[in-house]
Amino acid sequence: MSKIIVAIDGFSSCGKSTMAKELASEVGYIYVDSGAMYRAVSLFCIQNGWMTQTVINTDELEKNIKSIHIEFKTNAEGKSETYLNGKNVETEIRTLEVANGASRVSTIGFVRHELVRQQQLMGTKKGIVMDGRDIGTVVFPQAELKIFVTASPETRAQRRLDEMTGKGEKANFEEVLANVKERDDRDQNRTESPLRKAEDAIVIDNSNLTREEQRQILRTLFDEKTFS
Ligand code: C5P
Repeated sequence: MSKIIVAIDGFSSCGKSTMAKELASEVGYIYVDSGAMYRAVSLFCIQNGWMTQTVINTDELEKNIKSIHIEFKTNAEGKSETYLNGKNVETEIRTLEVANGASRVSTIGFVRHELVRQQQLMGTKKGIVMDGRDIGTVVFPQAELKIFVTASPETRAQRRLDEMTGKGEKANFEEVLANVKERDDRDQNRTESPLRKAEDAIVIDNSNLTREEQRQILRTLFDEKTFS
């Protein structure tokens, strides 16, 4: 059975990575969280003092873009974790501040160009499930299976809040909802690779689906592509 590329795109906090990770582990594929790569660039800017509330020092970022090395390593529990220049940053990149910065750096053409290049390299042997915003449209337009995941902003904000409070972080619903909407707006309206459904992508609205229902739908679609 030959390996395929699975591209999963959609809005923030709609469960893309849960679906992608589960499928990858069930079928023995590599899982790549492309959002984590934009988050790592955001963290790199914050650490270097190149990002304020309003401005990003794009000159410095561009000069140093090739010195940003992002890798994924599997930890002892089998979970993929993000490394920035050799350091595990999996926890640090999950804050609201870094997420907001990620959605800002992801509007910059040279950042996208570099990360897309790295993502395409990861997929040369296929057998990969990658989630993000432009995977089916820009990174792997040739992907055999493309999914576009969506859910209402309120559903997504509640899920994100549950996740954050579960980790002991402080946040309130209104703040998280505003953040979700702000990121949706930026993702859909940026000039560089705006979030949109690829023509041949299959839409999954998971507002009213359980995790198990969603898992089964995706697995069926995968099996249809790989057994035919
Ligand atoms: O998916 P996640 O929320 O971790 O992504 C962080 C940010 O990176 C998003 O807000 C989005 O703007 C950006 N992103 C992107 N293209 C991707 C993946 C993420 O622009 N392929």
